[in-house]
Amino acid sequence: MINITLLGSTGSIGTSTLDVIRRHPDRFRLFALAANSSIDSIHAQVLEFRPVYAVLVDATAAATLRSRLASSGVETEVLDGEAALETVVSHPDVDAVMAAIVGAAGLRSAWAAAAAGKRVMLANKESLVVAGKLFMDAVAASGAVLLPVDSEHNAVFQCLPAHGRQGVRRILLTASGGPFRTHAIEQLSDITPEQACAHPNWEMGPKISVDSATMMNKGLEVIEAHWLFDAAPDDIQVVVHPQSIIHSMVEYIDGSVLAQMGNPDMRTPIAYALDWPNRIESGVEPLDLFTIGRLDFEAPDPARFPCLGHAYTAIRSGGTAPAILNAANEVAVQAFLDRRIPFLAIPELIGRCMERVESEQPESIDHLLDVDRRARAESEQIIPELV
Ligand code: NAD
Ligand code: MG
Repeated sequence: MINITLLGSTGSIGTSTLDVIRRHPDRFRLFALAANSSIDSIHAQVLEFRPVYAVLVDATAAATLRSRLASSGVETEVLDGEAALETVVSHPDVDAVMAAIVGAAGLRSAWAAAAAGKRVMLANKESLVVAGKLFMDAVAASGAVLLPVDSEHNAVFQCLPAHGRQGVRRILLTASGGPFRTHAIEQLSDITPEQACAHPNWEMGPKISVDSATMMNKGLEVIEAHWLFDAAPDDIQVVVHPQSIIHSMVEYIDGSVLAQMGNPDMRTPIAYALDWPNRIESGVEPLDLFTIGRLDFEAPDPARFPCLGHAYTAIRSGGTAPAILNAANEVAVQAFLDRRIPFLAIPELIGRCMERVESEQPESIDHLLDVDRRARAESEQIIPELV
């Protein structure tokens, strides 16, 4: 039995994770579920999975959940506040943690799981973008096992040699190009949040859907790959592949290129991380190559997707530049979703914030979270300049 804490249980990755776990009741046991404030959703999850703990960061929501559970005779203990996330990841009974909170809000708990030496299934890419070196240091110091859940990184992980990096030349990260890959650039000025969130191949939460439309998602993933696989930015090539069937590739010095393929369904990388190195049923439909028919590839267009360039700039400058990039992006995406800024203002805001907030040497997680706060405040100052 593998005892699991699931952070972000009510989100897109969270519910897909529960869907895989539900198929293997004799292999996985849910120790704790955690979310921000979605009461109805977590209430139903607690009734089904009966975890030892349920965490709602929002105290009012947690109080409501507590009173609902009291009348149903369920023994799950309800905790609240951000510190409770760290309690449920580092508990001695926990074997593995699925880190699937969205944004830098997921950093402290993912880092705590790494520092506690757990098996960390990492969906929260922002943790590695903000705290790459410190995060990897924590993994190395504690002996934690870090398993990437992001589909591209999970694919690379499957295609790399089991031991070491001998013979690897480059990582080829595939990208769908999002919903606006073929739109005329002039049409992008009045894109709505609904259009940006309608991804052609994947169903995801709103933040990562907008990131896919701007291709900042791929930028964040280049930084994520840099830390996970110790690869120089120049050795990570983004390849636009509109069908999202090849989830990424590893190129070797002998000319071999290994690809991992499958239907675009996050339950495949989630299942691989849950029971690695074993393969288990995930519920994903088998790949039908005859229906797919063809696979296309193209180079990304830097004029259409300036966010990708911002991300390469941030990782090349190092220090806290990726944390600043990430904070500006989170503010910009939320402002776009709230209809406070237009779609094309997202890369503009990020570029201005990176110019105005100076990069520093990261010292600790607290320091990085302080940089995150300052870059968010600066981004809010920039918003009125862009409308
Ligand atoms: P989502 O918006 O669907 O869900 C987010 C989850 O995080 C919810 O359970 C929410 O309650 C919780 N949450 C949000 N803010 C929180 C806070 N301050 N404290 C505690 N919990 C909080 O997001 P998602 O699409 O599932 O993405 C989750 C993470 O996985 C992101 O980092 C994303 O980049 C990554 N990811 C997602 C996909 C995908 O297909 N959805 C693919 C690859 C990577
Ligand atoms: Mg991805």
